[in-house]
Amino acid sequence: KTQEPWRPFNSSRVYMADLESTLHYSLRVELAAHTVIKGRALNPLKNYIGVLAKYFPGRPIVMNTLNSLNSWLQNQSQDEILYKDFKEILDNTAQSPDTALPRGERWVACQGSQLHFRRYPCGMWTLFHVLTVEAKKAEASNQLEVPLAMRNYIHAFFGCRYCAEHFDNLVRGSLLENEAVLWLWSIHNEVNSRLSGALSEDPNFPKIQWPSPDMCPECHNVTKRGEHRWNKDKALRFLLSYFSSNRILPDYLE
Ligand code: FAD
Repeated sequence: KTQEPWRPFNSSRVYMADLESTLHYSLRVELAAHTVIKGRALNPLKNYIGVLAKYFPGRPIVMNTLNSLNSWLQNQSQDEILYKDFKEILDNTAQSPDTALPRGERWVACQGSQLHFRRYPCGMWTLFHVLTVEAKKAEASNQLEVPLAMRNYIHAFFGCRYCAEHFDNLVRGSLLENEAVLWLWSIHNEVNSRLSGALSEDPNFPKIQWPSPDMCPECHNVTKRGEHRWNKDKALRFLLSYFSSNRILPDYLE
């Protein structure tokens, strides 16, 4: 792989091209490492596709693909599936021409200054922030649905195994509060703080406690003793708007 020409982007916006690239990578590359998906990995896959079909704010052709995958998976009653059968449904555009998940990766806000930086892991975080926000907007009765689907997908399939292990420990040690949007935001900030200055950090995209005071001044408070405190109500409002489906930009889509 070679570095593609840089795609200029607005660093305070979410791009559908990143989300579709994430789905492409997850469903066609990451899952393809598993010839057979069985036992303890099958439910995580069913739940992941289930929350995507329910909450992913995608284009109609992409939603058609996710819905076909979801109904096919929910109908599988044996305790294993072959990845090649899953892929057949994923790529079966012959039967319905209005069903397609675009192929290939076109990273935009998740571009890295080098090929080994950012990209899919950045897309995965973005995807799950968007899903928690969509679930909240839909007033999902089960607040844990998206966090658990994320945790279980990462645990079963995420290619970076030590990331999956760290994430598992974090999730286990965290209070899974009944507010999923803020929960994922604060877990992500804990990961940012651990990875700040690490080798995996893109020097052009330093890890920060997000959002910065520039992006959301009202999210930050300072106590009389000079200690930093988040204003969680304002942070929630910021997240609901930042990751909202109606603000996702369609630039660079195929
Ligand atoms: P990312 O952290 O990927 O964030 C993507 C975008 O989300 C940012 O550009 C920003 O716009 C936004 N954002 C940042 N913080 C927040 C927040 N708190 N709330 C909402 N939005 C935010 N890498 C390792 O080296 N070791 C690990 O153990 C590891 N564990 C990981 C576990 C998981 C579950 C995932 C998905 C990734 C993990 N990674 C790990 C990768 C790492 O977290 C980053 O994704 C990667 O380094 C790319 O960083 P980034 O600069 O693109 O920003």
